This record gives sequence, C-alpha cells and structure tokens, in this order.
Amino acid sequence: MVSVNENFLKLSESYLFSEIAKRVNAFKIANPDKKVISLGIGDVTRPLPKASIDSIHKAIDEMGDEKTMRGYAPECGYSFLIEAIIKNDFNSRGISLEQDEVFVSDGAKSDTGNIGDILGVDNIVAVTDPVYPVYVDTNVMGGKAGNLQAGVWDRLVYLPCTPGNKFVPDFPGKEVDVIYLCYPNNPTGTTLTKEQLKGWVDYALKHKALLLFDAAYEAFITEQNVPHSIYEIEGAKQVAIEFRSFSKTAGFTGLRCGYTVVPKELTVYDEAKNVVSLNQLWKRRQSTKFNGTAYIIQRAAEAIYTPAGKQQIHETIDYYMENARIIKENLESIGMETYGGVNAPYIWMKTPKNVSSWDFFDRLLNERQVVGTPGVGFGKSGEGFLRLTAFGKRTDVLEAVDRMKIKS
Ligand code: PLP
Repeated sequence: MVSVNENFLKLSESYLFSEIAKRVNAFKIANPDKKVISLGIGDVTRPLPKASIDSIHKAIDEMGDEKTMRGYAPECGYSFLIEAIIKNDFNSRGISLEQDEVFVSDGAKSDTGNIGDILGVDNIVAVTDPVYPVYVDTNVMGGKAGNLQAGVWDRLVYLPCTPGNKFVPDFPGKEVDVIYLCYPNNPTGTTLTKEQLKGWVDYALKHKALLLFDAAYEAFITEQNVPHSIYEIEGAKQVAIEFRSFSKTAGFTGLRCGYTVVPKELTVYDEAKNVVSLNQLWKRRQSTKFNGTAYIIQRAAEAIYTPAGKQQIHETIDYYMENARIIKENLESIGMETYGGVNAPYIWMKTPKNVSSWDFFDRLLNERQVVGTPGVGFGKSGEGFLRLTAFGKRTDVLEAVDRMKIKS
C-alpha cells in the first residue's frame, strides 16, 4: 500500500488567499455593478523592461538557428549572468564573490523552499512573525515544524515583529539553529539597519546558527543605512545564505528567475562534527533536482544590468514606490497608523480601533470595495493589521485611497 509524506497532511489549504478570493467573489456576485480594487496581491503590473524584451527576441532567434541554439542550461546558471550579478549586485557594494558561489534559479520561492533539503531535520528553526508563509509551510513539509497547536507550530520558534519592538525581532529566547530573515520585509515593509543586521550576524557567529536572508525586495530600498546584502556585514559569509529575485526588481514574476548565494566560507557540521560545506551540498542538490533556468530568461535577466536596463527598472521601481508614498501619506492624513512603504512596496496598516484583520478586510471590501490582505494570515502577530501592496496601477491606487478617505 502506498503511504504518503504525512507532513503534507498536516498542512491546511492555503487558507489566506483562497479565503480572500472566496469573499471577493461572493461580493462580486452579489454586487455585479461595483468595481473592486485589489491592493492585496504582491504581483507586478508594469511591463517588462524593454532591454529584457529585446534580449528575449535575440535569444529566441539564436535558439532557432542551428549554429547558435542551446540545449540544457548549466544547472547553476550561465556565466554571463553570474558575472553580471557579481559585478553589479555585489562588487558595486564592496563584496567579492566567486562564480561558483552564485546559483541561478527559477526564483526565490523555490530556493527559500528547497533550501531545507540540505538542512538536518533536527534543526530548530526560527521565523519572524508575521512571516512570508513559504518559510513555515516548507518546514512543515520537511518535518521540522512539529504539530499545529492553537494556530502555531510547536517546534518552530516565532520572533514577533510589532510596533512594540519597532519590527526588529528580539533574539530567540532559546537555542535555535536556523533563522529566516526577510529584509526589506514582506509583509510589514520594514527594514533592519546595518547595526541591527550586524547584531544578527554576530548572534549567528556566536551560536553557530545559519541565517537564511531573503533580499527579494532589496531593489526597493531608498534609505542610506539599510543593507542591500547581508554580506555588507563583516563575518556574514560564514553564517548566511542570501536569496534574490528578479520578480519584483524587474517584473519577472511571469518569466521566473532568481538566484541564491551560498558562500564557500559557510560551513556547518555533520553528526560526527565534521565540517561540511553548504555550497557543495546546494550545488549537489541543484544539479540533481533542477535542470537550469531557460537560456532566454537568463538573457532577459542579464539585460537588466545594461545601462538601458538599469534605467528602465529604476523607472518601474520608482513608479511602485510613488504608489507606496500615495497610499501611506493618504492613510496617515486620515489618522491611520502605517508602517513600511519607504524601502519596500508593502504598507502595513494598523486597523482602526483594534478591529480584527478579517473584520477590517470585510468592512473595506463591503463599504469601499478595496481589497487588502489580512495581517493575521501571515502569523499571530499580524492580527490587527492589513497589508496593502504598491504594485497596482496608479489610477487604481488613487481611486482606492480616495475611497478609503471617505468618512463613514
Ligand atoms: N520571498 C519573498 C519575501 C516574497 O515576498 C516573494 C514573492 O512574493 C518571494 C520570495 C518569491 O519570489 P519569486 O517570484 O522569485 O519566487
């Protein structure tokens, strides 16, 4: 008889987004004449940069010619893209990396999810709360999260991020082995300063812990003292893996490309306390289970590092950040408490009068036809908040804030 991975059975349906869709659909059926504006989903709306489109056309022509066509891509990425990544994303910030420390992939969701493959099941894992749900669910699948008790996984260590600690998580109260950090943060839109991130690197060095640093929103940073890469912090190469994505930076959510940096200095221990290189293990994992990102897509990614490409992605990011400013300033003008939205395309809004996340979601949908994401869907500490995204069209953003400003 076939048995299943029981860990998967512990997972409920992805409640958050299916429940949002259910409520929005029910509203639309009951109110077909009303226009609903979504500031809920973290997906881009601006077209791809022209530099990438031009590269895609050229790469397709190469694939159609016997002399230039390409078969399987190298599992860990073409060197043309890896060189561009190292030069532009790291050397420009004084960070040196070798080519075989960068692993090109089909996105940060896969990599942040798959990284657990190379980590022991006995590790104690810490996540911030609220959190990007992929970190939690993939640890459930991998048998590292324990059981769900009153809405929390009993083997995970949660690090609350609230206005009380200015969204800077306190160090864990117990010994942990693996810590997920996402900065700029989804869902709160908040960041860590260099000093705060240094605190985490020092903590990991001292406690022999591993930091999984998700920098998917790095390109949205506008302030000076906010690190773009964890490797700006001394010692980080010994303790941290960094995940990056072209999804939000360059509108690649539909194309799929990202990369992960696993420095060679980063070592952990096997059961016999021998030193093991995570770089080697990740390479082994990727070359076995992943067959490379498409050549055409990697050429499209390379193009964002050309002068024209840089200019084009800059304009798109500015567009989204202007949306963020509009949302934040308008909400604050009517006395709402908001966080984020300065270095990230997410605004984390406190619900008025301590209304629950879902009640506020319903009110906004029914009375204003604006959709956000209930903060509690990202974790217990998200209760009483709503996440709004800045990825919408400008006209929708303006209309949504106008509707939210009407006095009830
Ligand atoms: N990491 C974070 C924090 C995200 O918010 C997202 C997407 O929303 C991802 C990773 C996934 O990125 P990708 O599209 O590269 O898989």
